[in-house]
Amino acid sequence: MAAISSPISLSKANGENGYPEIDWDSLGFGITPTDYMYMMKCSKDEEFTEGKLIPYGNIELSPAAGVLNYGQGLFEGMKAMRTQDGRIVLFRPDENALRMKIGAERMCMPSPSVYQFIDAVKQTALANKRWIPPPGKGSLYIRPLLLGSGPILGVSPAPEYTFLIYASPEESGALNLYVEDQFDRASHGGAGGVKSITNYAPVRQRQRFSDVLYLDSVSGKYIEEVSTCNVFIVKDKTISTPPTKGTILPGITRKSIIELARDLGFKVEERQIAVEEMLEVDEVFCTGTAVVVVPVGSITYQGKRIEYRATDTNSVSKSCCQVMPEFKMVRLKK
Ligand SMILES: *Cc1c(COP(=O)(O)O)cnc(C)c1O
Repeated sequence: MAAISSPISLSKANGENGYPEIDWDSLGFGITPTDYMYMMKCSKDEEFTEGKLIPYGNIELSPAAGVLNYGQGLFEGMKAMRTQDGRIVLFRPDENALRMKIGAERMCMPSPSVYQFIDAVKQTALANKRWIPPPGKGSLYIRPLLLGSGPILGVSPAPEYTFLIYASPEESGALNLYVEDQFDRASHGGAGGVKSITNYAPVRQRQRFSDVLYLDSVSGKYIEEVSTCNVFIVKDKTISTPPTKGTILPGITRKSIIELARDLGFKVEERQIAVEEMLEVDEVFCTGTAVVVVPVGSITYQGKRIEYRATDTNSVSKSCCQVMPEFKMVRLKK
C-alpha cells in the first residue's frame, strides 16, 4: 500500500522540532489521539486481503455487531520506541502476530497473516511517527484489534471481521498491587490464555492501587498475574514466575525476560508461587508491553501491606530494563 502523502487535518500542530506540541513528561496512560489508524475487513470464511491507513477517528458498527453483543474480539499491545541513536524500533512484532492468530482460532475468527499484521503495524507506526516520544520519554503504544464487526443475532461467529490498529503515546511508572482474593480472572478451560476482550471487562479497580494481582481459581493460594501484565519474584539469584498453563496470558515480555535473565546469569524458574511467599522475596516486578519491566513498590494482601525496594538501582527489573531496548528489536525502515 502506498503511504499517505496528502495533507489531512492533524490533531495537533507540530512544534519546531517536528514533534507535536505536547508535554512528554505528563502523558500517563490516557489516550492521546494520533493522526492515522489502519483498517482491514473481511467476511466470514474469507481471508484478509488489503487494508489501508485512514485518519484516526470513530468507527461505525451495526448495533448487532458480534463484538458489541457477544464480545467477539481480541486485542494486541505493542510499542514503537526511539533509541538514543535515533532509530525507531518495534519489539518482537512477529510474536504479537502469532498470538493474535492463536487467539483468533480460539474465538472463531479469521485473522491477518503474520506478514499482514507486521506490515500493518509498521505502516501505523510510521504514519504516526511524530507521536513516537523522544528517546527516554516513553513510547508509542500500538493497539491492534480484531473484531467481529458484522451483524449477528444468534450466538455464533459474526459474518464480517475488522482488523484495526490505532496508536497512542504513553509513559510508565512503579506499581502498587492489591491481591484479589474474592474474584478470579481466568478458569481452567476458559479463555484466560488469549487476549480476548472479555477477560478485561470484569477487572475490578481497587481505589488507591495501580492494579490487581489475581490468584488461581482452583485453590486461591497461588499468584497468577496482574490484569494486563505478568508477575515475577526475585529471591537471591533466582527469578520465578508462574507457569502459563491456559489461565495466564503468555506475555512476550515475560518470555523475553526469562531468556534475558538467564543470559544475565540468573536462575529462572517457572513454578507455582504461593501468595505467602511474596512476604519473603527481595523484589517483585511485572512485565508487559504497556509497562515493559516495572518494579512493584508494594503488595496488599488481606489488609497487610508489603513494601519492596522498588527504586533500588541494583534491582533485577532495572538491570533487565537497561538491556531490554537492544534485545530482539526490529528496526522500522526509514
Ligand atoms: C498483554 C498481557 C500481558 C503481557 O503480555 P506482553 O506480550 O508482554 O505485552 C500479561 N497478562 C495479560 C492478562 C495481558 O493481557
